[in-house]
Amino acid sequence: METPVVEREQEKVGGTQTLTPVIVGIYLYKDEMPRPDPKKDRKIRVDREPFWVRRDAEEVVWECMQNHKHSQDPPCFTVIFQNDVFQRSRKFSSDSDGKAHSGPAHKLAGNDTLYKYTVHVDGCDDLDPQGGVTP
Ligand SMILES: [Zn+2]
Repeated sequence: METPVVEREQEKVGGTQTLTPVIVGIYLYKDEMPRPDPKKDRKIRVDREPFWVRRDAEEVVWECMQNHKHSQDPPCFTVIFQNDVFQRSRKFSSDSDGKAHSGPAHKLAGNDTLYKYTVHVDGCDDLDPQGGVTP
């Protein structure tokens, strides 16, 4: 069953190419275990792991799912890759809507290869989920 495409969430790339968003929700939850650092009492969870985006057809949109007023300063979250998976950058920070758009896949990103990335939220332990590109 294909997920219906929501028109307004599509992003124009280069004026010609429209990438369909693959949403990765970023949630925070309270950790019940006592923490070594009591300030870091929350954990990060993503609701799609791994993510897969179709090359030249889809992009990742990471979305902050916290019930709060999203802000860019500081951002709700930052996503950092160690590899060239997307053309635009290896680092993405959420905008004032709590979203970060990956844009198109990098030509160096291997097909069907999983890449680890880091989700950073202030006050939480970093999370290292995975994602990749399919042909
Ligand atoms: Zn937020």
